[in-house]
Formats: sequence, structure tokens, C-alpha cells
Amino acid sequence: MRYDLVVRSRRAVLPDGTRPAAVAVSGRAIAAVEDYGARLEAGRDVDLGDLVLLPGLVDTHVHVNEPGRTEWEGFATATRAAAVGGVTTICDMPLNSLPPTTSVTALEEKRAAAAGKCWVDVAFWGGAVPGNEASLRPLHEAGVVGFKCFLLDSGVPEFPPLDEAGLRAALGTLAGADALLIAHAEDAAEIKAASGRDFGSFVASRPPVAERRAIEKVIAAAAGTGARAHIVHLSAAECVAMISAAKAAGVRLTAETCPHYLYFAAEQVPDGATEFKSCPPIRDSVNREALWRGLEAGVIDCVVSDHSPCPPELKSFGSGDFGAAWGGIASLQLGLSAVWTVARRRGRTLDDIARWMASAPAGLAGLPAKGRLAVGCDADLVAFDPDEAYVVDPARLYHRHPVTPYAGQTLTGRVRQTWLRGTSLLEGEGEAPVGRLIKRG
Ligand SMILES: [Zn+2]
Repeated sequence: MRYDLVVRSRRAVLPDGTRPAAVAVSGRAIAAVEDYGARLEAGRDVDLGDLVLLPGLVDTHVHVNEPGRTEWEGFATATRAAAVGGVTTICDMPLNSLPPTTSVTALEEKRAAAAGKCWVDVAFWGGAVPGNEASLRPLHEAGVVGFKCFLLDSGVPEFPPLDEAGLRAALGTLAGADALLIAHAEDAAEIKAASGRDFGSFVASRPPVAERRAIEKVIAAAAGTGARAHIVHLSAAECVAMISAAKAAGVRLTAETCPHYLYFAAEQVPDGATEFKSCPPIRDSVNREALWRGLEAGVIDCVVSDHSPCPPELKSFGSGDFGAAWGGIASLQLGLSAVWTVARRRGRTLDDIARWMASAPAGLAGLPAKGRLAVGCDADLVAFDPDEAYVVDPARLYHRHPVTPYAGQTLTGRVRQTWLRGTSLLEGEGEAPVGRLIKRG
């Protein structure tokens, strides 16, 4: 058997642990996983030596914003940043683009906008909004990976929130198709208006109880309907116990958190530094520690970026007003390094990283060919130097706008090479974008 590509590493992060291995690729898929020194015939044989071989990461929470708000971010720029950051699959959120992905027609518009521009594989979330119940089944059948809903104002008028009855109705519809509902869980009744340059006041305006009240509603609706529900961007660590109890009681619930909640603490955020604004907010270091413990205990299932950029002027750089600034943090290219920088200090391993950032999100989104170095999976591979430190230089970011709270941070762990379905992305082999638009399953 002659393979197209063999990639060897003394530290290959396989589903059953890290060990020396040779990953053999035929066409676009992993055809065999052999011993590191195995004699294999191949068109190309790459020996990474002590560099780590990771599965390509799967980021299920990315706002690309194209079409309609392409000046915020777009498929070409977002997927290029993803490839450089070791992310080989992204799932695009249904809002901030125009139209939002709340009907099959809108999904088709989005797929047309993305076609031919993507450097990594792209899947799509649908949206659940008031009045689109009839579109949920057709969207599911068209291959979306699940449905996003808000329980409070989303920040854009064309994507309104569900009330409690709407949440229950959507979950009831989705339970029949065994489709997943993901929820932005903050309760408007617990949130106060914020203004000014003081980050502490902004954090206080969106307290943990706002997340708790909304998550309670999601748990009750999931328990009542038997549907699968997922909490996006969990920030308030006090909710970990409640999520754990719901899971133990058999509610079909999962949760994610994001690199910025695991890396930053509110005490470090300078006044007026609106590049740190997200909703829910980055909280204090005590909360950060408790979030890490929830992740390490397996209550929080995955870590994904919530990459949500906008033009610098909407981040209100002029005034630094946390009330006026767009809430969203750009980190698609940096998430792996940011999480690994803290994780290694805590004694965590690259097996943990591969679970949190590749296999678990792939499982969440129903993408069985993604997120694992295993026979039959897509040959999405990342060569990673876990010891190389670097200072984040915004000029080297591929996001459309190089605005990020990580600017100037020293991160550890750098992506050296990325392969998408066997094609190397960072050394000129792929002259044109080779990413595909993919469907659940
Ligand atoms: Zn988001």
C-alpha cells in the first residue's frame, strides 16, 4: 500500500493517549496509525520528531458575519486565521450576518457567500427565533449542526430572543429530530445598564445571577422536553454545580467556556480597554479558578473561541465606553496558545487540550470525521511546538481587524503546520482555499 502522506511524531495525540506514531493518509482521510518507525511507502513522509502532532481543532463558536456584515469579519479572513491557529473546522454562528441563518433560503445565501473562500472546513448553525418553528426541521435536514437561540437581546435586531414559552416550543420541535439547541444564557431581568470606562462597573452590571437564572430556564425546558441543550460561553463558575447536578439527573445538557474566561481576570483589565468586552463578561480570578476546576472535572465539556469581531470604531476605541462598545472578543487564531499557556502551568496535558478543543466540540456538532487522529477520520493535522513562547503581535493576526485583548501577551505553544484533509495549508502547497462547506453527520 502506497500512502499519499505519512506524518510521524514522537508525541502524537491519539484518542487513547500520546505516544510515538506515524499517521498515514490516503486521499483525504487517515488510512492507518502505525508505529513511529514503521516502514511505509508514501508520496511524502514528514518526520516532526519531538514536535507534537495534534488533531485539527474544531471551533464550534465562530461569528463570521458574512454576508451582510463582511466589514466585521469574513470567510476568507476568519478561515485563514483559523488555519494559522491550528483550527481546521469552524461552525459559523447564525447571527450578525444578513440575513441571519433562520431559514433554508438564508442558509443557501450563506453557503453561496462562503463558497470558494474558505481555508478550513466550515459547518453552519441555524437560528431559533420567534416565529421560525416551521423552518427548524428543514434547516436540520439541510445539514445545520444545531440551533442557536438567545434568551435576551442579541445585540442585533434581526435575531430576536425566545421567551420561556418559545424556548420550550423550540426544544419540543427539536426533540423530535434529536437536534441540538444551544443557548446564550443571560437573563435580562438581572442585567443593569452599563456605561463609562470602568470595567468593574461593567462586570457588576452583568452578575453571575443573570447566567444562573437563564441556565435554570434552559435546564427546566430540556428536562421537560427530553431535548439536547447546550450552554454557550459559560462565564459564571457558580453555575458549574447546577450544570453538574442536571447532568447527573439525566438532563441532556452540555456546556462550553472560552479562552478569554480561562486566561484573563477582571482585575487585570485596564479602564477603557473595550477590547476585553464580551457578554457575559470576563470575571475575577476566583471565578476563573473555579471555571478551570469545572473544566477539569468534566462538567464543562469544551473550550471554543466565541470569535466575534467588529470594526475598531464599534469597539469604541475613541471613548472606551463599556456600555457603547460591541461585545465580542477576537481570538480564533490564538485560542490554542492561550488555553495551553495556562493549562500546562496547571499540569494538564495535550490530551486534555485535544479533548476540550477538538474531539468534544466535534461530538457536540455531530461531525464524526473531525477532531480525532483515528482511522477513517479526515486527515486534519496540526504540528505544534508546545514549548515555544511568543509575544502576540496584532500585525501578525489574519483576522479582518487586528483588535484583540491578547495583544502584547506572551503565550506558550505555537502551530508550525496545519493540514486540512491531507493538504498542507501554511507552506504554499494550497494556492487556493481548499476548505469545504460541510454538513452534520
Ligand atoms: Zn457568540
